[in-house]
Amino acid sequence: MKPNEGRLQTAEHILARTIEHNIPESKFIISTFKENSGKIEVYAKTDLRRIDLTKLQKQVNTVIQRNLKVKKYVVQRNEAETEFDLARLPFSVKEIRIVEIEGFDKTPCKDPHVENTSQIDHFEILKVKKVGKNSYRFDFKV
Ligand SMILES: [Zn+2]
Repeated sequence: MKPNEGRLQTAEHILARTIEHNIPESKFIISTFKENSGKIEVYAKTDLRRIDLTKLQKQVNTVIQRNLKVKKYVVQRNEAETEFDLARLPFSVKEIRIVEIEGFDKTPCKDPHVENTSQIDHFEILKVKKVGKNSYRFDFKV
């Protein structure tokens, strides 16, 4: 794992969940990572360039500062399907790894993450760009 990968990956889960919480019609699409920054793409009919980014950033930092435990465990696909949309995963995948930020979010994910949100430290949104019809990209760093 690269030095910042777990921090960026875990921050990404918190950011995606916070945006979906603020704007219920929005939906996380995909994320990509560089060494020190990350990008997520979000589907929304709302113009996400107009939302209050200072508030969003503060909400994410508040979750980070709650020192939440990040648990990882494997469940069988049929069990995971009752809770998550696994349509994008190939049928051959029978065991699903869940990343649970205790008391905040549960998401299927196979990438590395930190053990506790406090390890992420400070989170910052760099910019938001419209990248397609109803799709927006958030650049962030930790
Ligand atoms: Zn992840």
